[in-house]
Order: sequence, then C-alpha cells, then structure tokens
Amino acid sequence: MTSRKAGRHFLQIPGPSAVPDRILRAISMQTIDHRGPEFAAVGRAAIEGMKSIFKTDEGQVIIYPASGTGAWEAALVNTLSEGDRVLMYETGHFSMLWMKLAKRLGLQPEFIAGDWRGGADANAIAGHLRADTHHSIKAVCIVHNETSSGSVSSVAEVRAAIDAVSHPALLMVDSISGLASIDFRFDEWGVDVCVSGSQKGLMLPPGISFNCASKRAMEVARKGGMRRSYWDWQEMAAMNASGYFPYTPATNMLYGLNEAVAMLHEEGLDNVFARHIRHGRATRAAVRAWGLDILCNRQGQESGVLTAVMMPEGHSADQFRKTVLEGFDISLGNGLSKVADRVFRIGHLGDFNDAMLMGTLSGIEMALSKAQIPHSKGGTEDAMAVLAG
Ligand code: PLP
Repeated sequence: MTSRKAGRHFLQIPGPSAVPDRILRAISMQTIDHRGPEFAAVGRAAIEGMKSIFKTDEGQVIIYPASGTGAWEAALVNTLSEGDRVLMYETGHFSMLWMKLAKRLGLQPEFIAGDWRGGADANAIAGHLRADTHHSIKAVCIVHNETSSGSVSSVAEVRAAIDAVSHPALLMVDSISGLASIDFRFDEWGVDVCVSGSQKGLMLPPGISFNCASKRAMEVARKGGMRRSYWDWQEMAAMNASGYFPYTPATNMLYGLNEAVAMLHEEGLDNVFARHIRHGRATRAAVRAWGLDILCNRQGQESGVLTAVMMPEGHSADQFRKTVLEGFDISLGNGLSKVADRVFRIGHLGDFNDAMLMGTLSGIEMALSKAQIPHSKGGTEDAMAVLAG
C-alpha cells in the first residue's frame, strides 16, 4: 500500500460537496476590513445574490457565520415563543434533529410520523391543522430535500394545504440541501422562513448558513420570539441595509458566495436544476440495474441531490463504503440513525458533471464485485443510456 493516492478524491457525500477551483480562488483573496469602505459592496452583493437564489423580492436574507444547525435555531428563536406548538413532519434524520432542537428550546413539536421513504404528506398536515381550531400551532416545519433519505417534499403542496384550511401558521422550510440544486421559490410558494447552508448546492465549504424571512415572519419576530442575541434578525437586517454586519462576518466565505452565485447564474438556475434531475435519474437507473432498493420509493419524490441505496439483507453498508473508499478513493454518505449501516448515500450535487457521475457509479459497481455484494451487472450502462438520452 502506498501512502500517496494518485488523482482527485471523489467527495460523493451529499454535502459538503466538492468546491470548484473558481470558488477556492475567490476565497483565497486577502481578507479586508469588514468595517472599511470596500466591504459594503461585498456584503450587499452577497445579500442581493442570495435573494436571487431564494427567488425573493421581499424576503430578508440573513447570513450567519454558522453551520446549518445555527440557522435552524435562528429560524425558531426569532419567530416562536416557549410553549408554542409547531407541526413537523418526519421525512428522515434531519427532520428529527430539527424536532429535537425545537424541543430543547422549550417548544412543543408535534411530529407526524413518516417511514423515511418519501416527502411530507400535505394531506396529513392539512388534517392536523384543521383539527387545530384555536390556531395554537404557530408554525409548520418541513425539510425540502431530506438528505438522510433522498426524498423531496413539495413545498407548494404544503403551502396549499395550509391555505386550504385557512390556518395562520408560519411555513418554515429547511432547504439546506435543496437550495441551488433543486427548484425553490420563496415568494411564489409563500414560504415564511427558509433555512439553508453553504456546503451543498452553493458549492462552498461549510461555514455559513442562511435564513430568508418573509415580511410577515419579520413582523412576528419584531413583536416576539424568544430571548436571543446572536441570532436576532432585527439588528442584522438593520446593519445589512448598508452592507455591513453587527459582528465579524465570514469575509472570505462571502467572496466565495458571490462567486458561487455568479456561477449559478452563468449556468442558469433552470439548467442547474435540470442537471441535478438528470443525474438523479441516471443514478437510480444504475441502482435498479444492480438490483438494489432505493430508500425513497414514492415516484416523483426522488431527490436530484442524492440517492440513498439499501444494502441487501446481511451486508453492512459501512463495510461497503470502506471498500469503496479504500479501493477507489470515493467517499459515500453513511446511513443515519434509523438506517445506520443499512444504507449508503450517493451524492450527485453541486459542481458535478456526467463524467464525474460515471466515475462514481463505476467505482461503486467495481466495489460491489470486490465486496461480493449480490447484484447484477449493467448499472453503469443503464446510467449512460439515461445520460445519452
Ligand atoms: N438539514 C439538512 C437537510 C441537512 O442536510 C443538514 C446537514 O447535512 C442539516 C440540516 C444540518 O446542517 P449542519 O450540519 O450544517 O449544521
């Protein structure tokens, strides 16, 4: 065994995704005075750029030097008060983590149980809200792209369900792994708070995260919410108006963010979304040809960001990932909590093309043989057929 691995590592976990060289170069620029005259243009561009990615005119974009978990907490503490009921839907591990966070903050989450094999069921949400005749549920929280299971929830359907029962709950959406990879429309879908992060579709390293808040959410926050300081939207929004931040921003990450937004618009957001959908389809074709099951089994709800693959009974997914890493220098995502060691996840998001996908799928197919996992050949051929078609 040599100590050097030749060639580029394939980082095929569903985020952090590989950072393109253009973004790395942008980040490597010299840090400037964040209170100096040059900075305002950087700060303003970052906020305006993110508005174009969230697809909002009226929404307030907040950028935190924090991981996505911080932005989750920020969304809740700005808008809700201790004891408030919030309706959440179990789509997978990340919906559970957000629910646990809500509980720790003293909220009363009501969790609609799910089987991790599809997105949130808008009818079930409508049913729950209809029964809440006193309107004591203050928010509905869903995960747009569930990174643990590879399923997508229809935000538009959930909005329609809330409206159909005339319920005033705020709609909060975690699009940490959806934004800039799959279609997201803050204004059109009537989202009140969207939470996102840098390390997935935005192609940046981990380290910054976002809230986008509707006018209504900003008003709710102005009048209430929990005790907060670091996460407070008001002070941030007031400073952001002139391009500055109340505390030291992640200056170099903002350089990278501005580059990322430029790259996304150069490609065209619709083309970015179509590319992810196509790579999802090709990956699923490969997995089906191998004779393996895909965790998301609801047609039309499969993610273009990642595919979670179930291991045949009696085989360890983690052991298989080890074979893939050691033999082919490809990192795959692990199964989380309920599906630990039962599932591996193929990330196909961010700055990614057909040849990179074929490299990934070829490595997996070779590893299936090497690890003697029962499967059929021909997955890579079927994926190529999808890409060629
Ligand atoms: N929500 C989703 C859907 C995620 O995929 C992640 C991380 O992968 C998180 C929340 C948590 O974000 P972070 O790990 O950046 O705190």
